Amino acid sequence: KIRVRYAPSPTGHLHIGNARTAIFNYLFARHYKGKFIIRIEDTDTKRNVADGEKSQLDNLKWLGLDWDEGPDVGGDFGPYRQSERRATYDPLIQKLLDEDKAYYSYKTEEELEAEREEQKARGVMPHYEYEFAGMTEDERKAAIADAEAKGLKPVIRFRVPKNHTYEWDDLVKGHVSFNSDSIGGDFVIVKRDGMPTYNFAVVADDHNMQISHVFRGDDHVANTPKQLMIYEAFGWQAPKFGHMSLIISADTGKKLSKRDETVLQFIEQYHELGYLPDALFNFIVLLGWSPVGEDEIFNQRQFIKMYDESRLSKSPATFDSKKLEWINNQYVKNSDEDTIVDLALRQLIKGGKLPENPDALTIEWARKLIDVYRPQMSYMAQINEMANVFFEDPELIKGDALEEIENETAPVVLKAFAEKIKELPIFDKVEILKTIKSIQKETKIKGRQLWMPIRIAVTHEMEGPELPESIELIGREKTLKHLQQTLD
Ligand code: GLU
Repeated sequence: KIRVRYAPSPTGHLHIGNARTAIFNYLFARHYKGKFIIRIEDTDTKRNVADGEKSQLDNLKWLGLDWDEGPDVGGDFGPYRQSERRATYDPLIQKLLDEDKAYYSYKTEEELEAEREEQKARGVMPHYEYEFAGMTEDERKAAIADAEAKGLKPVIRFRVPKNHTYEWDDLVKGHVSFNSDSIGGDFVIVKRDGMPTYNFAVVADDHNMQISHVFRGDDHVANTPKQLMIYEAFGWQAPKFGHMSLIISADTGKKLSKRDETVLQFIEQYHELGYLPDALFNFIVLLGWSPVGEDEIFNQRQFIKMYDESRLSKSPATFDSKKLEWINNQYVKNSDEDTIVDLALRQLIKGGKLPENPDALTIEWARKLIDVYRPQMSYMAQINEMANVFFEDPELIKGDALEEIENETAPVVLKAFAEKIKELPIFDKVEILKTIKSIQKETKIKGRQLWMPIRIAVTHEMEGPELPESIELIGREKTLKHLQQTLD
């Protein structure tokens, strides 16, 4: 039975890399008709943030994911927050202690720090050295009693088997193996505050929740041998593992870093800018997974159907903003009009371009405006910048645009256009187009020499959406004003 989980730590908003992990697990579960589970890994209480869990789940829902079991929907394997699962961990820890596969460890943080410094100075990889090395059982008991008397709070460490190979066939990376001597010594499974560590809780939960496959980020590869040791200590079968390649930025060529502000990295930010969730989902799937063939635009149903974990890429995935914009633009062009208008309207209101509650006439006008810009948009907040000319008086004409209209024919065109549109019975794109055509007939001026002066005079830009539509939306009064200003 296929059971996979996404196990976020509620330490912040949903990061693009975590969203990718969630999506790959989700696609895997849905493709094989298995179960997709959400488990909140909140044992690192210092790093948890208020609302972290809610924000994670809200963003996953926004991306179009749903789950069969989780903290909000329940399920047969709950609770689904690690902080509520202490009762399931304690007897397991006790079992390891009873079998001497784990032990109380009293080295203080200062002592551990000094140990690492000293090892570094010797050129040795920092590791924990067994504090009871060479002691008889009586000596060890005495050392413990002494530490207890001093009031020292212990951690519990897992006794790492010596010189033993831990290996697995990774579903992404292929065969991986670690020697147990290389992992830094006996590691902590229960912290001083009594909370189990990630490496312990994740094994207990994955086992108890009957998880069959674990897909997670490459950054967890070094944890996997530790987890395999714990499975072995309990005599449990480990799930299959797949570690997904890291994501690098196309601009820097380096690992995507949360501090890199040139790339939006939190799903929340995309949501706020009015990206389409289906488009973002599509983009994220292509970060480290590729379909057969050249096509790249697929909806969620199609991805589920064709998903195949063997096509997860071994090499790093490149986060390419241009591709992000391109994919999103495809979706903007192909979504139904109401969805786009609704989202773009919200951005116009948020951007202060439209009042909080626009009236019907304004909405009708905005609908046309949005339609005009839609072919160029990747996300809805762009409308505020692109359509600025419709809301504010544009800046003075300068540079190339000015050169473009400093000739003999431009004033002829502009004068004729101004005269004619004053008289138009209806000021709409059809009439405006006719007007421009009639100027061509009468003056024999055509092409760029005809269109460019009008565009520049009215919008002050050399590029933009369809001109007749734009002029209709700018309105007769403003158009005449801009024409006059240019002619003066
Ligand atoms: N809580 C871990 C994380 O957020 C999950 C790792 C795992 O999937 O095992 O990275």
